[in-house]
Amino acid sequence: MPAIGAPSPTQCRKQSRARCPRSPISRPRLLFWLGGRHEDAEVILSSLRFDGGGPIVRNNDYDKERNLQKRVRCSTFRLPEQCTLKREHPTVSIDSWAMQGAMSETHEFADVALDLPVGDSFQYRIPEPLRGQIPIGALVRVPFRNIEKTGCVVGLSDRPRITTTIKFLSQRIVTDYRVDPPLLDLATWMAEYYFCPLGEAVACVSAIGLNDVRSRRERLVALNDFASIFQRWRHGEWPPPRTTQQQQTVITHLLETENTPIAPSALSMLTSVSASVIANLVKSGALCAIETERYRPDFYPIAPEADQPLRLNPAQQVAYEAICAASEAGEFRVFLLHGVTGSGKTEIYLQAIARAIERGQQAIVLVPEIALTPQTVERFRRRFAETVGVYHSRLSIGQKYDLWRRIKAGAVQIVVGARSAVFTPFERLGLIVIDEEHETTYKQSDSPRYHARDVALVRAQKLGIPVVLGDATPSLESYHNAQCGKYVLLELPERIEAMPLPEVSLVDMSEEVRDRPSGLAAGLLSRNLETAIRERLAAGEQVILFLNRRGFSQYALCMRCRNMIRCLHCDVLLTYHKWAERLCCHYCGAEQKVPPKCPKCEQGEMSLVGIGTEKVEEAVAGLFSEARLLRIDLDTIASRTAFIDAWQKISSGQVDIILGTQMIAKGFHLERVTLVGVISADLALFLPDFRSAERTFALLTQVAGRAGRGERRGEVIVQTYMPQHYAIRWARTHDYKSFYEKEIEFRRVLQFPPLMRAIALIVAAKEIEAARGQAQNLGMMIRRAIRANAERDPAMRVLGPAPSPIAKLRDHYRWRLFFRGQKPSVMRGILKSAISRFDHLYPKPRIQLTIDVDPQDML
Ligand code: ADP
Ligand code: ZN
Repeated sequence: MPAIGAPSPTQCRKQSRARCPRSPISRPRLLFWLGGRHEDAEVILSSLRFDGGGPIVRNNDYDKERNLQKRVRCSTFRLPEQCTLKREHPTVSIDSWAMQGAMSETHEFADVALDLPVGDSFQYRIPEPLRGQIPIGALVRVPFRNIEKTGCVVGLSDRPRITTTIKFLSQRIVTDYRVDPPLLDLATWMAEYYFCPLGEAVACVSAIGLNDVRSRRERLVALNDFASIFQRWRHGEWPPPRTTQQQQTVITHLLETENTPIAPSALSMLTSVSASVIANLVKSGALCAIETERYRPDFYPIAPEADQPLRLNPAQQVAYEAICAASEAGEFRVFLLHGVTGSGKTEIYLQAIARAIERGQQAIVLVPEIALTPQTVERFRRRFAETVGVYHSRLSIGQKYDLWRRIKAGAVQIVVGARSAVFTPFERLGLIVIDEEHETTYKQSDSPRYHARDVALVRAQKLGIPVVLGDATPSLESYHNAQCGKYVLLELPERIEAMPLPEVSLVDMSEEVRDRPSGLAAGLLSRNLETAIRERLAAGEQVILFLNRRGFSQYALCMRCRNMIRCLHCDVLLTYHKWAERLCCHYCGAEQKVPPKCPKCEQGEMSLVGIGTEKVEEAVAGLFSEARLLRIDLDTIASRTAFIDAWQKISSGQVDIILGTQMIAKGFHLERVTLVGVISADLALFLPDFRSAERTFALLTQVAGRAGRGERRGEVIVQTYMPQHYAIRWARTHDYKSFYEKEIEFRRVLQFPPLMRAIALIVAAKEIEAARGQAQNLGMMIRRAIRANAERDPAMRVLGPAPSPIAKLRDHYRWRLFFRGQKPSVMRGILKSAISRFDHLYPKPRIQLTIDVDPQDML
């Protein structure tokens, strides 16, 4: 396909008017979207040459006021020779679906999915003027009850589905945007698999959700008659008389820059000529104004210095070749790349992606946490420059839209991002990489409660492409799948250049507290850790301190009656935040002051007990007043760019001690970090969740992996009250396999995932009786269905209802059922029929039912 782009500057706006023949339209082969105002679009048109009797043009301004779209049909076209068009110039784009004939010509009805907590899709009539202009995937405004809502067209038809009156849809929005049909398929699968409304799934797969958004326009100027002025200039016949010195400066600048369109303000600055001179040149026709698009930047540095592929070591080479072979064969295959931190996994991703790109394919790289993206993006941009785009939920809708446009214009071939980047609308996707596959952040906690890894597998299977799951501590599910041959296990047993793994030592905090009951750091920092920090600081090295709980203290406790202050709306203890001087609920956001006296016994003093990152920060700052300390947790990384600022500070060596929650446990690759201190290894172990040991093991291994990635061997000090626990013991020796063997045995005995599939159901209501009663009813319905289907999956069971570990949340009591079995499709069938009956019997607003398929936590 020829390059297309900016109008040829030699074309004058006025001359093109006459050339718009309205001949009958043959079957369209190509469809162009011309941006800009009506006149500008015609300038571009006139600069394109078409075979077969010139352009066939249909005047079809979608939006007369904004004059942004113009649709052109033609059979074939060629670019005019004199036009040096730049590919990245976004003024013209081909609607590739038109070539596939996906655009509806005459359909009268559209099925529209709306972002509502109910239903599938709703049928609307397409008004006459819009017929043939609304493809599947288009975003539209429709009347719903008494308001206008935005939805996405998921189907077109000529027949009404209902007999009552069908309303007209009102308009198409973001007229150049559509959700790719393969992504709509994925949304349909999600709605089915995760029991969520289709509209929610569609909003989730759509790069811009169901939002209205515009491109950011910018006016540029260029010479109107570049070719002839250039000729005269070359032959010394320019400038003509009566050209002022200032005009000459402007025009010479444009000649010297090959007439690259430029913003008037920039031109004025570069030539030190006032804006009015430029405006007058436009008025006189010497310069033409071109309206164009300006992309909203993401927050990441564009392209730091380039780097080259490294020579792979033998283990890396084996993995790399296996991945490339599957990719070249167009084979769906899942690789579990198991290697300790620093074993060179990322280098394999980079090289496998480079191969895919060479073949004209595209790649998605998922990372678990946006706090990590700066470093990963930097690494990818070093290799692939600005073809790397970034996608995550903290981007604005405008930024997401612009990324979508850059993807569609072919400027972005690789997207690095968090969970939602799995929906990147690439049309030639060749590889999906999921780094730190075990992380819980890949699972969305509200509807649709999808797991990005599982969605990636489904997407890859449909496309016939490989998926690489890279991890030092794979989830039990994935390692189990590798053990039974569903995934291909690739192992990197050593760190690069056989760099030793850090030495991990445990400190038993119960002894420590006994020997050192008071003082600034009592119960927070052991003497070992304190001494080690002092040594590293003296040597000019960096230290990471890790504690997976934000806030200052855990809770407020009455010293007399032992009452602890709970949230009024949720069944959880409130966490004290010192900066706000308040007790806060981490679930509903409610907050209150610390009462001077216990609200229950009205006599006891309230004391703040337990630890959080804020408290550690205060203690560390007190002990090491000379050190530069940076705390990273949800409270300090609240703004959109805070994590990039933090990363820049850390990587440029402006920080000595980095203190944070799990945000810093993953992926940070810092050569100067030689000591990692884990303030408390036990927090996750106390959670009522069958995954708590797995979490603890993974987290400790990950944090430990942050140490000693440079020349000096790293050291890790783990403080714990449970030094004998198997998760802690094996994390100390970096022994994943032993941990796996023990843990999988527990799961087998208890019949938990990965040996079983699970679906959690939570019934919530304002009255405790209603919640419990309805949960019992639902449980009964499912049990009845299980009995009727027992021979299809004898392993099916329902546990509960029992109060959920968070028994009350935002004023709603929650009762939980745990449904497990071995055949997900049978389970889904049973649940579907039970739920439809349940829905029928119990009206939505009073009783809320949450379904979590493959739940990641039990709360
Ligand atoms: P992981 O992703 O497993 O943590 P990385 O890919 O980040 O590992 O590799 C760790 C370090 O080793 C990086 O600094 C990387 O540049 C370097 N590295 C990776 N592969 C090689 C290689 N084949 N030769 C030399 N250095 C390598
Ligand atoms: Zn609350």
